[in-house]
Amino acid sequence: NTEIYYDDDVDESYLANTTVAVLGYGSQGHAHALNLHESGVDVIVGLREDSSSRAAAQEDGLTVETPEEACAQADVISVLVPDTVQPTVYENAIEPNLEEGNTLQFAHGFNIHYNQIQPPEHVDVTMIAPKSPGHLVRRNYESDEGTPGLLAIYQDYTGDAKERALAYGKGIGCTRAGVVETTFREETETDIFGEQAVLCGGIAELIKVGYETLVDAGYSPEMAYFECMNEMKLIVDLMYEGGLGAMWDSVSDTAEYGGLTRGDDVIDDHVRENMEEVLEQVQNGEFATEWIAENQANRPVYTQLNQAEKDHEIEEVGERLRALFAWEESEQETESDDERT
Ligand code: NDP
Ligand code: MG
Ligand code: MG
Repeated sequence: NTEIYYDDDVDESYLANTTVAVLGYGSQGHAHALNLHESGVDVIVGLREDSSSRAAAQEDGLTVETPEEACAQADVISVLVPDTVQPTVYENAIEPNLEEGNTLQFAHGFNIHYNQIQPPEHVDVTMIAPKSPGHLVRRNYESDEGTPGLLAIYQDYTGDAKERALAYGKGIGCTRAGVVETTFREETETDIFGEQAVLCGGIAELIKVGYETLVDAGYSPEMAYFECMNEMKLIVDLMYEGGLGAMWDSVSDTAEYGGLTRGDDVIDDHVRENMEEVLEQVQNGEFATEWIAENQANRPVYTQLNQAEKDHEIEEVGERLRALFAWEESEQETESDDERT
């Protein structure tokens, strides 16, 4: 049975008289820094002298120092620069400034789990990982809602690691919605598997192959785009609100019968085996090793695939159609805004 922590389970005094260095002011960094600040926590944002994020953090009313200086002053160091640069930032700015009893706080377990960062024994190593992009972590906090999150403790030197992590989770608004306890290993491996097999990789391929199948059979690219890409959001919204049941209830009986009989012909046992193989490469570190080497080589494969994806015909068709139908979206937004007021 899964432990879930809410605001009432948290003693925020564990962050009293504590300075938190938030390294990075991107997606997660800006949200954590602003939410903690407004929760009454002493925050210093750590950014390079020439960082393009400096102006934004300063305009938002936060104290900004170099990563080195922020770490020197902090008791809790929240590592919110991109995963691929964290080992360098750790070596240059964090490690030289780690004092006994400090906390190293992460929002994803990659570098700890795959041993790219090896902290000394005399610090706590924790994770509070919001299960959402940063701009929603910020927006949910401002609207008094919360963002669900994960808690994990890798190292508990002080004996208070969990209490401090939960106080951090409350400070960014996660315990309003609920924080689930996990481990660095489970968070890292499920997160990476999910984005590869289902959320990012799986869905993008499903859409492209569906689109190509229709276009290759002579149907119009516009029809193929609507059917395989545009309607995806409507279907996923239904699942998000009420599970698969809400989706099946809301589509036609023809769609339900066809989907239930043909879905597993498409996503068949071979796809299941492929997913197991992808999971194995996550578990045995093969993917991590490949991605680290790819970065050290200045991303040759990434650069090529990133460009190929941009050049796919579906992107050009989509851009044209989204521009033509933009009026529809803004009308919908206005309607739902009216409903709220
Ligand atoms: P971003 O890519 O948004 O971080 C960008 C920030 O990092 C900028 O402020 C940038 O400043 C700074 N930065 C980049 N390189 C360096 C460097 N070498 N030294 C110092 N600062 C640098 O990161 P995310 O918010 O996406 O990710 C942060 C962490 O949160 C990761 O561990 C990620 O896995 C995790 N996470 C992310 C989620 C998301 O939705 N994005 C969701 C859940 C977890 P500069 O202008 O100097 O480049
Ligand atoms: Mg991820
Ligand atoms: Mg249909």
